[in-house]
Amino acid sequence: TFKDVDVASLSPMMQHYVKTKEENKDCIIFYRLGDFYEMFFDDAVTTSRELELTLTGKDCGLSERAPMCGVPYHAAEVYINRLVGKGYKVAICEQMEDPKEAKGMVRREVIRVVTPGTNLNTQALDETKNNYIMAVVYLSNRFGIAIADVTTGDFMVTEVDKIRTLLDEVYKFSPAEIICNEAFCMSGVDLEEIRNRLNISLYPLESWYFDDDLCVRTLKEHFRVGTLEGLGLKDYECAVIGAGALLTYLLETQKNSLEHMRAITPYITDRFMVIDSSSRRNLELTEALREKVKRGSLLWVLDKTKTAMGARMLRSFIEQPLIDEDAINRRLDALEEINSREMDREEIREYLNPIYDMERLIGRVSYQSANPRDMISFKSSISMIPYIKQLVKSFSTEEMQCVYEDMDDLRDLYTLLESAIVEEPPLAMKEGGIIKDGYNEDVDHFREAKTKGKSWLAELEAEEREKTGIRNLKIKYNKVFGYYLEVTNSFKNMVPEYYTRKQTLTNAERYITPRLKELEDMILGAEDKLYALEYELFVNVRNTISREVERIQRTAKAIAKLDTYISLALVASRNNYVRPKINTKGVIDIKNGRHPVVEKMIPNDMFIPNDTYLDNSKNRVSVITGPNMAGKSTYMRQTALIVLMAQIGSFVPAEKANIGIADRIFTRVGASDDLASGQSTFMVEMTEVANILRNATSRSLLILDEIGRGTSTFDGLSIAWAVIEYISNTKILGAKTLFATHYHELTELEGKLAGVNNYCIAVKERGDDIVFLRKIVKGGADKSYGIQVAKLAGVPDVVIERAKELVEELVSADITAAVKDIASENKKTKTKPQVHLDELDLEQISLFDTVKDDDVLEELKNIDVSNLTPIDALNTIYKLQNKL
Ligand code: ADP
Repeated sequence: TFKDVDVASLSPMMQHYVKTKEENKDCIIFYRLGDFYEMFFDDAVTTSRELELTLTGKDCGLSERAPMCGVPYHAAEVYINRLVGKGYKVAICEQMEDPKEAKGMVRREVIRVVTPGTNLNTQALDETKNNYIMAVVYLSNRFGIAIADVTTGDFMVTEVDKIRTLLDEVYKFSPAEIICNEAFCMSGVDLEEIRNRLNISLYPLESWYFDDDLCVRTLKEHFRVGTLEGLGLKDYECAVIGAGALLTYLLETQKNSLEHMRAITPYITDRFMVIDSSSRRNLELTEALREKVKRGSLLWVLDKTKTAMGARMLRSFIEQPLIDEDAINRRLDALEEINSREMDREEIREYLNPIYDMERLIGRVSYQSANPRDMISFKSSISMIPYIKQLVKSFSTEEMQCVYEDMDDLRDLYTLLESAIVEEPPLAMKEGGIIKDGYNEDVDHFREAKTKGKSWLAELEAEEREKTGIRNLKIKYNKVFGYYLEVTNSFKNMVPEYYTRKQTLTNAERYITPRLKELEDMILGAEDKLYALEYELFVNVRNTISREVERIQRTAKAIAKLDTYISLALVASRNNYVRPKINTKGVIDIKNGRHPVVEKMIPNDMFIPNDTYLDNSKNRVSVITGPNMAGKSTYMRQTALIVLMAQIGSFVPAEKANIGIADRIFTRVGASDDLASGQSTFMVEMTEVANILRNATSRSLLILDEIGRGTSTFDGLSIAWAVIEYISNTKILGAKTLFATHYHELTELEGKLAGVNNYCIAVKERGDDIVFLRKIVKGGADKSYGIQVAKLAGVPDVVIERAKELVEELVSADITAAVKDIASENKKTKTKPQVHLDELDLEQISLFDTVKDDDVLEELKNIDVSNLTPIDALNTIYKLQNKL
């Protein structure tokens, strides 16, 4: 392979190739050779495999031919996107001069490195999503995070000190690529898990990228500031390194000055509700759990935006619900005002409709890759702004006023584009047809020369005939002499002096005149000059626009915000949502709430609404029982989604709602299979429970569905029981919780643990069958109806009958009785377990404090831990405990 190659014996071009590869070791080199991009050596082998291209060979000066494969230059984008999509980096090595004009070897240079997080190609990107690249640095126990989107110019930084919070940020942004320092790889973060879960590349860069001085200097130079304080980065030591490294990496790969990255926004993670990655998935915020598509998600219901910018902003609203009462109310005020003016709302929506992705456009303008058609789309976008501004002006809520103030109608740019660029320009930039008549005298002139040349010649011919009296004088053209005047021999003597003879034929003479040569220059040179000039003028216009990047970005964000508010308002009025009241007392009081997604999925208003009431005192934990399929998880998710929607600043699907702000929402739902992580379902479940118990606060909302299902009945029930004790205890946690379970033994806890109440989802028995009423009522379900549900599902009658027999038998070995015993014991020594829990230092729970029995110790020592499944482990512990 490549590494063993004797470079000195390679052909000169291959030597250059090897040098280029050396400078871009981690990239696949697309090496331009005439009409193809070629890959050589290892790159060729990889690429041919990944893209199913034929592997050939090229003479390279060695005895063996170098492996080679190639793609035609005009189709390169597609191949690059596919490689980048698979996580590769591609360095494009371009011919920097026309091979026809090159003296010696054609000069070639890497003009850009395309990486997953920096792909600009619109075909490869979803316009409703940002394409983020993230840099993470780990320094003195803190994580600095920088996030950028090169297509829009967004650039943000933050700092966190816990691995959990770091992961929450990573999963919130789901970047396409993460770069980091070496220390981060050793920080204890599970890199493989991030890689697998997001299916992205995450890798360390060389240490010089993270050099303090270099980072500070790069940031200062790029943002043209004297101190970092000017950027609001004073207290972000760690994030500054992240931002500096990211910027250096971007400047290097993009080989562009990134003029559209004009601002850097520090943000504080505490300003947003914390939602961990599995809760994001479980609640189906932006994609459905099963198909991983938008349909079936909350975003799908809420997104009625008209612009790509609005779609991206709405998504980020959903990904980052607020926790500040005033900020939430400001958004709700705006929505209410919009809906009080339905006509204006509809009119604004119409004006938003033709608005193009101005953020990504200004990105392309900065990259000098925007074409004339982009300019026209831009013009038609900004042509809408004055109308939008005029409507928004009369809105009085704070948010709408902000939108109004941030929106610049960009009149100057509109006027420029209107006067300079034709309405339907071609895609090509160097073939003319771009600049409008009347914008530039020379363009008009060349164009006239090109199209009017023929009539000018005819005019000149007539003129000369008249002047000289030569009736058959003709203007003709040939390749050697260009245009000439031809006079037959019989009129030769009438030729005036200002004619210069060029050629003599047997029966005629050919002449030229200064005027004829002038016309000739104009006609023949016009096209080339016209194309070059049009291109130059187009580039000037584009540069003028690129200098206004800040105004355009601010306006684009204002439009995005307006679009988002209008969309939320429209969805609220179409779907009969109400404005929630927001409180900071922790009371969640929902009257006739509905699940925003499920109500859309089932036919004509069949959804049964339900109430929810939770507070910080008597109603902290609701234990919800009811048969499978009754609607337990729908009910719990609906509550979580209503709280989340309220904190986005959206109206909610209910008749009335008063929402106490939740700092975090955690969900643990059923035995979901986490295929990516390769852990057993029970292990995943317990890891998530552990995470919730450690990170929830008394202001959090917990949704726990079927905890303990993944193990034996006894273990499961015991774990569920202990979890409820822990959560409901205000001295330990005291979080508001909806806890669904099929263990109706847990209904025993009502009245025994403060704040715990029983609810069930009603079903009606009709003979042997059951009917789901979908209504939540106080009290516990007395039966599990498992057999009835099995029957509904079509399990054969013989099996159903046999199951009934077995139930009868098993009832005699009733575990309910045993549970009742434990519960009443609890009651007698009511404070015991709680006092015990209070005293625990949770970080240092030692399982063995109370173990005194030598037998048990001996048995423990002999356990072969490496061969134990989690379930075996739990069973073993259970067995051991029983021996004490
Ligand atoms: P469980 O968690 O109790 O097994 P689910 O919440 O999964 O039950 O609900 C089962 C099905 O019942 C859902 O797919 C949904 O179609 C329907 N459903 C649930 N709640 C309601 C409701 N309030 N109104 C109408 N249909 C409902």
